[in-house]
Amino acid sequence: MDNQAFRSYAHEFVDWMADYLEQVENFPVKAQVEPGDIYRQIPEKAPLKGESMAEIFIDFMKIILPGMTHWQSPNFFAYFPANSSYPSVLAEMLTATLGAQCMKWETSPAAAELEEKMMNWLKEMTGLPKHFRGVIQDSASTATLVAILTAREKHSDYQVNEKGLKWFDSFRVYCSTETHSSVEKAVKIAGIGSQNLVKVGVDDQFRLDPRLLKLAIESDLKVGNKPICVVATLGTTGATAIDPLEEIAGICSRYGIWLHVDAAFAGSALILPEFRWMIKGVEYADSFVFNPHKWLFTNFDCSAYFVKDKYSLLRTLQVVPEYLRTQDQGKVNDYCDWGVPLGRRFRALKLWFVLRSFGTKTLQEKLRYHIRMARDLAELIGQEEEFELMAPVTLNLVCFRFKPKGIEDEKLLNNINEKLLKKINDSGRIFLTHTKLNGKYVLRMVIGQTNVEQRHVDEAWKLVQSSKSVIDLSGPPYVGR
Ligand SMILES: *Cc1c(COP(=O)(O)O)cnc(C)c1O
Repeated sequence: MDNQAFRSYAHEFVDWMADYLEQVENFPVKAQVEPGDIYRQIPEKAPLKGESMAEIFIDFMKIILPGMTHWQSPNFFAYFPANSSYPSVLAEMLTATLGAQCMKWETSPAAAELEEKMMNWLKEMTGLPKHFRGVIQDSASTATLVAILTAREKHSDYQVNEKGLKWFDSFRVYCSTETHSSVEKAVKIAGIGSQNLVKVGVDDQFRLDPRLLKLAIESDLKVGNKPICVVATLGTTGATAIDPLEEIAGICSRYGIWLHVDAAFAGSALILPEFRWMIKGVEYADSFVFNPHKWLFTNFDCSAYFVKDKYSLLRTLQVVPEYLRTQDQGKVNDYCDWGVPLGRRFRALKLWFVLRSFGTKTLQEKLRYHIRMARDLAELIGQEEEFELMAPVTLNLVCFRFKPKGIEDEKLLNNINEKLLKKINDSGRIFLTHTKLNGKYVLRMVIGQTNVEQRHVDEAWKLVQSSKSVIDLSGPPYVGR
């Protein structure tokens, strides 16, 4: 392909992109395919001779598009969103075109310096402490891994990095039973072992119970175990519960334990002053993560990680071989030393485009709109005889279930709701996911997609209503694939 052809296809693609985003709500939001459907359509081998872009694009439309789940559809209420927006997509086009690998300051000074400034913007917008230093990670999972690695090193006086884990077999990490699975993954990768992840119980609103945390730490200390890290969650994945940060922070300070705050989804809500109560006590936290790629309209991936003591982070992860030594060493931020991979995408650009193009005020209005729609829906569900609200609506996640009159058996109710979810998602009109809260199967509806409006929520609720009347209440259980 030459430059002329590139130019002409780029124009054509941009038209397709604008059409797609204009019409995305008309696509079946969850891909309506069976396992293997796409795989079978792709040839066994790469072509020997190059093919035309026209042919490739036709296959994109024919094979790939039907196998996509449309995350940018306003009818997407599943998981937590991975939102994009027009300014973000435009920035990603430029990022792809520049194709820079931004591992060190020298490899693209603008990328490093814009990243530092964007993290400061986010810090200011969200009310995080001034002494935090920020870096963009690919995901919250990576940020949490980095936090646990740093805690491990700090508590071993940086000896595990040198000698291995052999001499340090009694590390303990704490979180709640509602904490995201990325914490367990990080504990496994860090060599601490999932048996040493202590999952503390929660209260009736799914928040970590600080009294149980304190008891767990004290009983570990009694037997010679070494508590190194507590992970507090602001906005759990199941029910967006907000762990009581201030009390947890008090316990961590008292016992000298690293406090990591996972606010992957809910952190974006900190741009609203009325939600700053969530971070009371955050000045005692050692690290904090939230994902602009979830609820701040910035394409995946863009995870904002903040640390109190950047030197402990650098000391944990920095390795400088001769071929990566530069003359500016120490004077600038070489962000490859702040995370796991060496290579880094230029992620700050899309954040800059988003924050400037929307402006804080519009971002706040959008988030408040989402939260309001969720609260209204929760109120509606509260009045429904055959539906039950299953968790408090702190932000914009509504957890509910169908509870037909006269049915009390929990197993049967789980089964009915599983069928209901399948019915709803098979329609292709909206996409919801589920979780279990206290063993009860609940449907999760997150109202946070970039372009979601009241009419989408109204339609979605109508669909839930109409789907419930066509499922078989007593039939055999739905068996997943
Ligand atoms: C989404 C989420 C994660 C994982 O985020 P990734 O960026 O996909 O790794 C972790 N914790 C919580 C609370 C989340 O909501």
